[in-house]
Amino acid sequence: MTFDEYQAAAEATNLTPGDLGKVMSVSFMDKVLGLVGESGEFADKVKKILRDDNAQMSEEKRQLLIKELGDVLWYIAVLAKHLDVPLEEVAKRNIDKLASRNERGKLRGSGDNR
Ligand SMILES: [Mg+2]
Repeated sequence: MTFDEYQAAAEATNLTPGDLGKVMSVSFMDKVLGLVGESGEFADKVKKILRDDNAQMSEEKRQLLIKELGDVLWYIAVLAKHLDVPLEEVAKRNIDKLASRNERGKLRGSGDNR
């Protein structure tokens, strides 16, 4: 499955589509809050592995983390749709940015525009 195919499939399960290009819409904010929520679910599962499992990740917990990453990916895909950008392009731009930083010795440090 390509990123573009995934994005189209994700959009097909979007219960609140519409208002593309509008930031303060129910549809957009629903996805922003969902992304934060699913990221939190991922982090919470990691926390519990640290706290309760002596930082040892069982296969069951690994599968749960993979499932949560999928939930995060869904929100990223539909938010990209709101921004009218293919998920493929989001991925490519990110890798291009990191490759550029790596070439210039700027992977470490801070700032969005290194
Ligand atoms: Mg989840």
